[in-house]
Amino acid sequence: MNFTDQTAVVTGGSRGLGRAVCLELAKGGANVVLCYAGNAAAAEETAKACEALGAQVLAVKCDVSDAAQVKELMDAAVARFGRIDILVNNAGITRDGLLMTMKEEDFDAVTATNLKGTFLCMKAVARQMMRQRCGRIVNLSSVVGLRGNAGQVNYAASKAGVIGMTKSLAKELASRGVTVNAVAPGFIDTDMTAAMPEAAKTATLASIPMGRLGAPEDVARVVAFLASGEAAYVTGQVLAVDGGMAM
Ligand code: NAP
Repeated sequence: MNFTDQTAVVTGGSRGLGRAVCLELAKGGANVVLCYAGNAAAAEETAKACEALGAQVLAVKCDVSDAAQVKELMDAAVARFGRIDILVNNAGITRDGLLMTMKEEDFDAVTATNLKGTFLCMKAVARQMMRQRCGRIVNLSSVVGLRGNAGQVNYAASKAGVIGMTKSLAKELASRGVTVNAVAPGFIDTDMTAAMPEAAKTATLASIPMGRLGAPEDVARVVAFLASGEAAYVTGQVLAVDGGMAM
């Protein structure tokens, strides 16, 4: 896929799926603007890996749940590269627990990053993309947003909400040449899933028809497709990348 002369903003680009997305877009020739929450070393490592592929990179510390920081991020991207062609809303967290014991702050933290963060980033690029009369927004939902999961009421709410926002904004921006889609990964090998208890990992693995965890690159290639010119007539869709889990 060819992203020459295009600029992509990838939230949570320092690690995991976001890192793989940055590399995939860099491989296609994109300028990459990645943001991270606090892990500067990981962000720097990803930036260097993208540069090694020939990309120009800007790494910005930005909490996506903070409107002022999100505006600074997008302003910095436009100041450096002049445009934003692709936004990948990937930054996400979990704070798992059963509803009966889940703290209100765990609900608020997860929805603030995963749901409000996606809202703020889309809002911050929408005008720029409408002005350009083209743009691609790809949001990271989850199989949990489609099916629910015990112990993840907060996360499921955020990821189901991302699907609702994706479809709504797709309808708002379709006539302006801007597409908005979501991917719903299943169980992917990253720091997020490494933190799961062993019993939960074993049970989840048993529910995957393909019988293996996904690699970050499995998801990154689908994100890149939706961000590319090849997906010009695709909008408002949720593409599961889950080895068959959500069938
Ligand atoms: P991860 O390895 O835990 O990485 C999370 C990334 O998000 C890091 O780059 C982190 O930055 C960044 N981040 C966290 N909070 C942030 C905030 N408030 N503002 C800006 N950046 C923030 O996660 P992952 O597994 O790659 O997941 C990436 C996305 O895919 C998430 O939205 C997740 O919900 C979704 N997803 C993952 C799976 C899976 O199986 N892994 C399945 C379905 C959906 P730092 O490095 O600075 O901490």
